[in-house]
Amino acid sequence: MRTRIARLLATLLVASAVLPFGAVSASVRPVAGGAVRVNLVAAAPLPTCAYRDIVTARTAYSQYATTLLDTIYRLPRAYFPPDLVPTGLTGGGSIRRIALADLLAMDRAARAAGARFAIASAFRSYNRQAVMFNNRVALVGKAAALRTVARPGHSEHQLGTAIDVRSYDRRTPFATTRAGAWMKANAWKYGWVMSYPSHMASVTCYSYEPWHYRYVGRSEAKLIHDSGLTVRQWIWARFGS
Ligand SMILES: [Zn+2]
Repeated sequence: MRTRIARLLATLLVASAVLPFGAVSASVRPVAGGAVRVNLVAAAPLPTCAYRDIVTARTAYSQYATTLLDTIYRLPRAYFPPDLVPTGLTGGGSIRRIALADLLAMDRAARAAGARFAIASAFRSYNRQAVMFNNRVALVGKAAALRTVARPGHSEHQLGTAIDVRSYDRRTPFATTRAGAWMKANAWKYGWVMSYPSHMASVTCYSYEPWHYRYVGRSEAKLIHDSGLTVRQWIWARFGS
């Protein structure tokens, strides 16, 4: 009992650092005016970043928006979305069909704003991620590789709903390009959230990746955006793993 109370207190302290204290209590429910109030329940505090290999809880393809992936939780090796389609954008790659319309809508809006982006990477299978990780280890050593490349099973790219983007004119660094700034401000409106924002590595477990976006659908993305939480914190707060 004592442990449970200690855990709950720790959870509330973590959550109250970024949310009003009262927001941490029940569930998602509609409120007047069409807005949705989300109250977060977590059974335990967000785990400290560590390298483990626990198969994540929600591995159904329909649960793509709330599948927790980090340096601890991973997908099964056989997780391979059945509905991959080419993005059709410069840079190519494939994503799940369910994310395509919103990707193309985001592309049109970005172009209209003079902030055109291109795809640098999209779906990656477990095996492809293994090759990438091993190549990185060979290049920079395991300790450095772990900080920048997800181990196989741990990458959001295996979901088929994550993209790395670059500016269309290949300018760098991406975060300060028009495309980078536009994506940061607007991607959520199209259902895409930045998984690894700056200065959040202690809770996301990865360094700042201004180019990496994960599709969660427009309503979920709005909730995450309004919460001020990162995707990892959000999923943990709602489901506990
Ligand atoms: Zn990425």
